[in-house]
Amino acid sequence: MINIRRQDIGLGKTAGGGSGGSFASHRRAAAAPPPAIETEENLLQNANYLSQVPNFAQIMRADPEQWMNTPWAERKKIVERATREIIAATPEAQDTPFGTPLTFGEWKPLGSALARNAKRRHLTQPELNENTVQMNASQLRTREPQTIANTILHEVAHGIDDWGGGHGDRWAKKHRMLLDRHGMTERKVEQIHWDTDREHAARMVRKIVGTCQRDPTHISYRDGMPRSRMYICTQGACRGVPQAERLISYARNPQYIG
Ligand SMILES: [Zn+2]
Ligand SMILES: [Zn+2]
Repeated sequence: MINIRRQDIGLGKTAGGGSGGSFASHRRAAAAPPPAIETEENLLQNANYLSQVPNFAQIMRADPEQWMNTPWAERKKIVERATREIIAATPEAQDTPFGTPLTFGEWKPLGSALARNAKRRHLTQPELNENTVQMNASQLRTREPQTIANTILHEVAHGIDDWGGGHGDRWAKKHRMLLDRHGMTERKVEQIHWDTDREHAARMVRKIVGTCQRDPTHISYRDGMPRSRMYICTQGACRGVPQAERLISYARNPQYIG
């Protein structure tokens, strides 16, 4: 983590009454232009930056202990607002290679993934395509603030990449660009979704992904496209449903690298 000064972020006071010290001597003149290469510390003192992404900045400079002591309901709002802010502050999110602007999607259970970028193509109407960031509350509520900030940029990098980019070079460049833009130059580009190794391996190395038409959380992987379109889902509650209502649709696995 970058060693930045603790500031009162409205997330509760420390027992000792704050970190103490006066930082007036560090304050730059209001008219001073921002430096060419932004450090996290510079950004967090830049009024223009703070007004653009106040919630994201709040996460970046949050003290991990204070953050964890803040009720999750409050942190969740901050995380969602921060994600919306970053999307709004990222010009590339309006004009993506996928063709659909990136938006905040929803909070939903995503297993062991902290968040994901969901791109969906409509069968006949491209204007109904979706490109959203989905967030997983049960994972994010246990994570340190700087991990959450990194996760937001990780997913926005997917959102401004094309369908099927996975964690390849093109995505990595976009993630690097966003990290640098937000002063997180010391952060490494992370190649994984914090999935379990097994999930990660299946996602990355198997070419075809099957999605249950009845319950899209029922995912399966194959190495090749099946010869018939009539495969049925046998996961969870699908087992008690008429077979015609639980056909699996197969598509190229967007995470596939190979
Ligand atoms: Zn990813
Ligand atoms: Zn199913």
